[in-house]
Amino acid sequence: MNEEKTPAQAPKKKSKVGCCIGLSVFGLLLLGVVFYYVIGPFGLGLDLFGNQAKMDKVVDEALQRGAERQYTYAQPSTQAKTRTVDCSKLFKFSKLPRNNPLCVNLYNATAQDLQTKIDSGKYDRIVVYGDNIIMDAPSALASYTDMGTRIYNVAKFSDLVTLPKLMGLFGISNLKDMSFGIAPYKAIFYRVSTLGEGASVCGIWPDGEKISSCAIGDGMTIISDRIIAPEDNASVRFNAASAPTNMYYFIKFPTNCYTDDIFIHETTHNLISYSGQVPKWFNEQTAGFVGRVGPEEVCGANTLEKFRTKVDGKEVKNYTPVKFLGIFPAAETSHDYPESTCNQGVLTQWYRYLNEGGNWPSQFKTFFTDMRNSNPAVDSDAGIKQFLLSEDKDSQAATFVNSKCQ
Ligand SMILES: [Zn+2]
Repeated sequence: MNEEKTPAQAPKKKSKVGCCIGLSVFGLLLLGVVFYYVIGPFGLGLDLFGNQAKMDKVVDEALQRGAERQYTYAQPSTQAKTRTVDCSKLFKFSKLPRNNPLCVNLYNATAQDLQTKIDSGKYDRIVVYGDNIIMDAPSALASYTDMGTRIYNVAKFSDLVTLPKLMGLFGISNLKDMSFGIAPYKAIFYRVSTLGEGASVCGIWPDGEKISSCAIGDGMTIISDRIIAPEDNASVRFNAASAPTNMYYFIKFPTNCYTDDIFIHETTHNLISYSGQVPKWFNEQTAGFVGRVGPEEVCGANTLEKFRTKVDGKEVKNYTPVKFLGIFPAAETSHDYPESTCNQGVLTQWYRYLNEGGNWPSQFKTFFTDMRNSNPAVDSDAGIKQFLLSEDKDSQAATFVNSKCQ
């Protein structure tokens, strides 16, 4: 049961301004986005000085979510529609209260049902359960008066869009085979938590900043309450800390895409652990990668907008994130970036592997499906290296990786 922490924004180690996860006040996030775009300590925003119109446009766009899209929701299973869970017996984090929850099958309720019951003021938590998720959310958050609608939308979207998409990336069609033991049925448990609550379980960064979200094994997950305030997560910048001025993407979530980069990151940790126990650095960089490119898979094409990719100081076109990350050394997408040259080489080759054939989701799915099916020992640096090389059809892969591992 390893503790996995959400990366804040990638440039976390260099600037807290670009980091949203540690901020306790949602408004500060928006200010952070503005600040970043205008003042951008890594020069990203500096291009915009002297071009007020362009700067205004970027800032305006940063504060808005993208246009609505059409989403296809999966059909909930018969079991999901008919099951009843006794929330008094449901797992809860020992440090976090849940005294009198409203406990509801997501498919036997409407947003209005939830709202009416929340308005009664009797419940401290709202627990909704579906096919793939159990979501334990606060009944009140800041000044929001529409918690019923918020929780309903996020839970339903998570259960029938986000989870199926992310499970598809891993080649998982059903969570029932998961070894998770805490829920009354196989599901990922999300405890929607304030920053202070999250930190009480997830801990504190070395720099003293609180950690909002973490996946702690067995499907138990703390998720920042930012997930139910998506308008405050209007945009997320994505650049790699080890290449801050070179790689720059911007995630713009469509208005009705009820997910965020943190949710995708932590869910990825859960799905990785279903496939194998990999070294922490590989686990973290992979979750960091999916947290950043996953919104494109979940929310649709052009959710991830490229602003700039530079290689050797030159602007380059047609570099996708996965292709950029396959430049040695791979840029870091999360904390726990490997220090050793050998592991950096493995990480670089991992992204090259994903890029082979130009369809990273397909490669990703093959990799983790094979890992589950063949059950290789991948819990060490040598193990993950060996498994990658056994999967990789690039004839130069072994030569490259071994040259970094001498
Ligand atoms: Zn993580």
